[in-house]
Amino acid sequence: MDPIPPAPVDTEEFRRARQTLVERDVVSAGVKDPAVLAAMLRVPRHVFVPEPLRRQAYDDHPLPIGHGQTISQPSLVALMTEMLGLTPRSRVLEIGTGSGYQAAVLAEVAGEVYSIEIVPPLAEAAARALPRAGYERVHLRIGDGWLGWPEVAPFDAIMVTCAPENVPAPLVAQLREGGRLCIPVGPAGATQELLLLVKRADGTLERKTSHPVRFVPMRRAAP
Ligand code: SAH
Repeated sequence: MDPIPPAPVDTEEFRRARQTLVERDVVSAGVKDPAVLAAMLRVPRHVFVPEPLRRQAYDDHPLPIGHGQTISQPSLVALMTEMLGLTPRSRVLEIGTGSGYQAAVLAEVAGEVYSIEIVPPLAEAAARALPRAGYERVHLRIGDGWLGWPEVAPFDAIMVTCAPENVPAPLVAQLREGGRLCIPVGPAGATQELLLLVKRADGTLERKTSHPVRFVPMRRAAP
């Protein structure tokens, strides 16, 4: 006899809710890249939020994921992904895995995704959620993202989803020439600036755009 199939990860109801989210909130936030819109339609965000909040997974809001952290608002996830200008050949590094949702969206549009999380139980939950949602190939590491992931650098793009007070030098060093860095910078507990920076041939950064956002602060590992 066939084993009983596991409960489906996705349902028609969740798919419809994603369609509405994309049409109503993501497109109106200004996101145009078809690959990013397709990713937003595909990634089952409900798999990445705590069970009691599943019904709210397709509202355009951040949600608590435990340990004082949040999964970002979907339209912002889409905007930040679009800012990186990814292609199926891009290698991308994310700092702040959190729930794993942003990493899954990156995995839909980029070739290789690396993500670092400093809170071990969050990293472990993301390591379970990602394969459950169909993303087996995201590389995860527990550690201080300020330091980046030098062993696998350089990256075509780096996305930081927690806010340091200034741009971490190791991340700039691990970006290839012409590579893009999307990062919220500013003091903890205040509005930060979301910067898009492009690395010039001389190693300096060109600032492309900036807009106000509010992210959780980047923590530093104890020395
Ligand atoms: N991208 C996440 C959003 C997570 S919120 C998602 O899609 O769900 C920001 C995350 O950054 C939190 O999980 C927090 O623990 C983590 N973080 C804070 N400081 C960090 C650091 N120095 N290195 C790596 N992760 C960090």
